[in-house]
Amino acid sequence: MNLIIESFRRNFTGAALCLLLAASPILARSQEAVTSPVHGIAVSNMDTSVKPGDDFYLYANGDWIKRTVVPADRGGVGVFSTLADLSSKRTAGLIEEAAKSNAPSGSNASKIAALYNSYMDEAGIEARVSAPLRPHLDAVAAIHNKQELARALGETLRSDVDALNNTNFHTANIFGMWVAPGFNDSEHYAAYLLQGGLQLPDREYYLSDSERMRGIRDKYQTHVAAMLKLAGFADADARAARIVELEHAIAKTHLSLAENEDIHKANNTWKQADFAAKAPGLDWEEYFRGAGLGKQESFIVWQPSAFTGESALVASEPLDTWKDWLAFHLIEANAGVLPKAFADERFDFFGKTLSGTPQQRPRWQNGVAVVNGLLGDAVGQIYAQRYFPPEAKAAAQAMVANIIAAFRLRINALDWMAPATKAEAQAKLTTLYVGVGYPETWKDYSAYQVTPNDIFGNVWRGSLFRYHQDLERIGGVVDRKEWSMEPQTVNAVNLPLQNALNFPAAILQPPFFDAKAPAVVNYGAIGSVIGHEISHTFDTEGSAFDSKGRVRNWWTPADLAHFDASTAKLAAQYDSYKPFPDLAVNGKQTLAENIADLSGVSAAYDGYRASLDGKAAPTKDGFTGDQQFFIAFGQNWGSKAREAMLRQQVMTDPHSPAQYRADTVRNVDSWYAAFDVKPAQKLYLAPPDRVRIW
Ligand SMILES: [Zn+2]
Repeated sequence: MNLIIESFRRNFTGAALCLLLAASPILARSQEAVTSPVHGIAVSNMDTSVKPGDDFYLYANGDWIKRTVVPADRGGVGVFSTLADLSSKRTAGLIEEAAKSNAPSGSNASKIAALYNSYMDEAGIEARVSAPLRPHLDAVAAIHNKQELARALGETLRSDVDALNNTNFHTANIFGMWVAPGFNDSEHYAAYLLQGGLQLPDREYYLSDSERMRGIRDKYQTHVAAMLKLAGFADADARAARIVELEHAIAKTHLSLAENEDIHKANNTWKQADFAAKAPGLDWEEYFRGAGLGKQESFIVWQPSAFTGESALVASEPLDTWKDWLAFHLIEANAGVLPKAFADERFDFFGKTLSGTPQQRPRWQNGVAVVNGLLGDAVGQIYAQRYFPPEAKAAAQAMVANIIAAFRLRINALDWMAPATKAEAQAKLTTLYVGVGYPETWKDYSAYQVTPNDIFGNVWRGSLFRYHQDLERIGGVVDRKEWSMEPQTVNAVNLPLQNALNFPAAILQPPFFDAKAPAVVNYGAIGSVIGHEISHTFDTEGSAFDSKGRVRNWWTPADLAHFDASTAKLAAQYDSYKPFPDLAVNGKQTLAENIADLSGVSAAYDGYRASLDGKAAPTKDGFTGDQQFFIAFGQNWGSKAREAMLRQQVMTDPHSPAQYRADTVRNVDSWYAAFDVKPAQKLYLAPPDRVRIW
């Protein structure tokens, strides 16, 4: 479970790359802080005409919001995106160096250069027209029966979803695979299978009756027809209508995001032989053969009802409709590496209509994203050496240790929790692996073939390479120190099945983490991020796993009842937030992240108080130590997003919109004292209404 979702992946290129492309929609402290460093809270970003107790988010960020314009090629901006841009520029520089180095063929450096250059070769891409796609479309056209269809569907399976680490439940392929430690055997990797088949971000886009969603669906159908026409299909409008109708039927079988997050519903072991009985329709033997999983005996099926429903649709819907669906998904997935007309049409729908973004990003930025996606560790290794000095690593590790110590004290102080439950919670902290900056071992790309001037092939082989690597891991012994983020990624993550955290190098820098800033500001900014990830160990999902990463109920019934009651109260608090009159935050969908935000800022506060060692808190710019702590936390979330992007986030993101993340301070007693918050003020909660979980 990560700090921000990076799943607004569709804005720039193909869905084949979708897990690779980050458009960091959620934002943070002053953009200026990156270009002209302010060591401490960014006072010029605050709107001190707002009372902190009325709207803490605006108090901390209001002036920055007033003077910031969202660039035409963005869905939103803030420090996450500004830091991501910095990371992108640095990576582009490293790629350029790799290109100039004349590295031996087959080396990582030569692959980095060849992959990037093949993406930038626009003239070559135009000249090839849709030729690279043709053999794949011909293969779909040659499907004669449902058995061959099953085989072809199996051949689309990729490692393109991630249920618990990077929380990505979306794949446009009929199903998606995630290889991770097993729910019931955390020592070995298991194959998790997840629902899929939709191009739009979530089932609600197909099923909601709102005028807005009906409008999006109409435009989507037009887009489907336009893509088919570009690829030379006759009767494109009629085909598009049938494809959208099929996706609508698939959407009806899908679980919602809130249901997907319930790991107890997801722990379903199916033997390969069970599929035909439990989900009749699809020829599963052919499907698994096509997927290269013919010999794999058992799977964990995340959403059994969707597998039953989707499989039945394979039987009930006409072969030609499925072939059209398959062809369209093939075109869509590769649009980013086809001629400009395809990429433009794709952006027109997914960028403009769905995210409200008027302009595409400069091509080099997408090129960097492609390299990060397919050769992430190869670039990350150079990035970490260049931009993450050992002092930064040591300082971050010390801070992590302080906040874990603060968390231990908080657990011991819980008056409602039985000693046995506390003991297992403490054991989870003892066995927690914390990765800081970069992984201890790097991925091996020697089997990935990158060919000059062949971006289509490079991307195709890249996603297959990753898939085959994952196939080989199934059944193998788990490496708990394995990372799930690259060093150059501005984010952080908790891996509940490994009981591990990753803090990439790219987030461990100003303004989140600044050696020249007062310690209190670092505790409020990166400290709360560290606290957030530690807290995921104990959120509604993390608390289902024990100290060894196994799914095991280690709670006494009374403790669990207390925990459930407190978390239900927090869910109700977020349910009451309405970013738009017709759209509320979903308290259940965002619960795990909201717990992590609240517990994270609380633990970071304790860590900061402990670091004072009894001394008085230093005052700076007229703000007390406690005030600086909370303002720094609030400034993590300062953001400006377009309406379409924000709506998409509310519907598809397990994280709450930024303003409510900042406003969780209303549950923290020391915030009331720091800003003298009074009962008449809008964020005020009477002490019994403040949610305290950890
Ligand atoms: Zn999180």
